[in-house]
Amino acid sequence: MSDPALVLDGVEKAYNEGTPAEVIVLRGASLVVQPGEIVALVAPSGAGKSTLLHIAGLLDTPDAGLVRIGGADMTHRRDAKRTEVRRAEVGFIYQFHHLLPEFSALENIVLPQLANAVPQAQAEARAMDLLTRVGVQHRAHHRPAALSGGEQQRVAFCRALANSPRLLLADEPTGNLDPATSDQVFAALLDLVRGTGLAALIATHNLDLAGRMDRILRMEDGRLV
Ligand code: ADP
Repeated sequence: MSDPALVLDGVEKAYNEGTPAEVIVLRGASLVVQPGEIVALVAPSGAGKSTLLHIAGLLDTPDAGLVRIGGADMTHRRDAKRTEVRRAEVGFIYQFHHLLPEFSALENIVLPQLANAVPQAQAEARAMDLLTRVGVQHRAHHRPAALSGGEQQRVAFCRALANSPRLLLADEPTGNLDPATSDQVFAALLDLVRGTGLAALIATHNLDLAGRMDRILRMEDGRLV
């Protein structure tokens, strides 16, 4: 059997700035996401979803506990190695698209591939294929400002998958959209993820959306149940 895409084991995290002096956010959070699995992370705002996703995506380090990506322990690796693994193996989607405004939709998906030494023609073909899968190929040469909110977010999904990551981490990926659009765009995201077979951990406080994933994890008091 292949290694889990993501393992968090006993992850603890507290913030020491501000008032109160210490905010304990994660108190031994553990989870396993297998390849091909789409897992919902459900919790109210402020419960620690973003903190957990940042630690899982190697953007932040835990105070205690283990993070493994594709079977490899990332907790005690040097920053350069963590950055390399993050670039190659993890895709991120946020509530806001964060596309580069001066580049077209297509270019926004091509650029991360060029940074990964993929030849231009191959990168463009992959970008077009991804845009087609989420139904925005006809907008490929428009800049983000010319796209609707739902189209912008579909392009952001394609960018996150551009380098064929092992693991997709998404933080309220349709939280910025009106309910009807959110529904459609979320369906497009699930189709895209299922079509590529990667593992995904998707934070949401929308139980309807969570119910469409393979499994739901709830955050309670800094742990996952
Ligand atoms: P969620 O994504 O579920 O809304 P977060 O992970 O963003 O939750 O935040 C969890 C808690 O940690 C909140 O109480 C938040 O105020 C606090 N927090 C997040 N980041 C920091 C930080 N850099 N410094 C201090 N407190 C923080």
